Amino acid sequence: MRVTEPGITKLAIMGGTFDPIHIGHLVTAEEVRREFNIDEVLFVPTGHPPHKSNINMTTSEHRYLMTVLATVANARFKVSRLEIDREGVTYTIDTIKEIKKVYGKDVRLYFITGADAIHKILTWKESEELLQICDFVAVTRPGHNTQELLHQIEELKRNYQTCIHFLEVPALAISSSNIRARIHNMKSIKYLVPEEVENYIKKHNLYEYKICLTVEERDRMCSYVTLKMSPKRYVHTQGVVEMAMEFANIYHMNCDEVFIAALFHDIAKELSLEEKHKLCMHYKIELDEFEKKHIDLAHGKIGAALLENDWGITKPSVLDSIRYHTVGREGMSDLEKVIYLADMTEEGRSPYKGKEQIKSLALYNLNQAMYKALYSSFNYVTRTLGEEVHPVTYKLLEYYKQYDL
Ligand code: NAP
Repeated sequence: MRVTEPGITKLAIMGGTFDPIHIGHLVTAEEVRREFNIDEVLFVPTGHPPHKSNINMTTSEHRYLMTVLATVANARFKVSRLEIDREGVTYTIDTIKEIKKVYGKDVRLYFITGADAIHKILTWKESEELLQICDFVAVTRPGHNTQELLHQIEELKRNYQTCIHFLEVPALAISSSNIRARIHNMKSIKYLVPEEVENYIKKHNLYEYKICLTVEERDRMCSYVTLKMSPKRYVHTQGVVEMAMEFANIYHMNCDEVFIAALFHDIAKELSLEEKHKLCMHYKIELDEFEKKHIDLAHGKIGAALLENDWGITKPSVLDSIRYHTVGREGMSDLEKVIYLADMTEEGRSPYKGKEQIKSLALYNLNQAMYKALYSSFNYVTRTLGEEVHPVTYKLLEYYKQYDL
């Protein structure tokens, strides 16, 4: 660490969880910098704050790196590892004292934080001393009760020798929790966070939507599915659910996602041709030339549209595993393979040559099982039924051949 920082007389400290950092934080830092004529803004991502011992935050390293990526383009912004490298609980008073050692005792410090923190500041460790050794800048987002905050600030000023400033920042209409919720709901976060942060979040699958179902939700889904199909198809569907859950356990997959994909995979199967056409038009489903000729194959895509529309399930991996369970597609995910293979091997499906081998292969190698399953359905369609197969089947056979035993 640098011993002293020459030339800096005013330093702002931007403390926060930054889970994740967003444009609102950057606008705030820049506003404060200009308003108070600050030389440098030091972003300090929290380590293990005293009030959050039970909350499962994104790891410090991810939050730190996102903060670095977000601030790197501004020469007056720096990021400190002080709190994330500190063992145990981190208190702001300790951070301020360490920063004073580095920047010199004469530097004037401004601690920027959300207004909520000001309401609770007297509960912080050594708050009286803290209020004296640095200024505070309480920033609020639109809609915050400023009257109450200003009243609180006046009281603190009266009772303690302190400087607390107040700044309303419209850009703070963006919040970290809102960004996380948008990611959960598959909405775009473009322009809400810097592009580098957006890419980092995508690369590391941060804040990914995990589907968690209650027993009641599972029951409601089963009731919905029974209404969409004959008892015979529902027995098959339950067989696919059981088989897929077995695979899910082996491959450590999200059981709720596998459950939904397996349960809903055939919901559109027994619709009449007319209904299938109508729903394709209604949901603007794109069909390839082969599907247009064999509309029954569209039941995967229609099923995915129904799940999304009637249940609000938007997770792409779940929808894709339903969409493509009919003939597969290039670059299938493990979930897609699991649904395809469970459909081919569930207990109730009539025995066919190779069924048991495909099933036992699927229990330890999905790709080997995929080759055998594709080969078997290719033979069934071309030789037994005497029909043409979807062109993608040839590509898939070619690709999965490398996994043949
Ligand atoms: P937080 O959970 O990240 O934030 C709480 C609220 O304030 C959120 O709405 C947040 O918006 C907003 N916010 C936080 N920091 C902000 C900033 N610098 N600029 C703009 N908005 C901000 O953080 P926190 O728990 O309030 O902690 C804030 C700082 O206070 C941290 O540095 C923390 O270490 C310190 N703190 C110290 C003690 C102690 O020493 N005893 C106790 C509590 C807090 P976003 O979600 O959009 O960021």
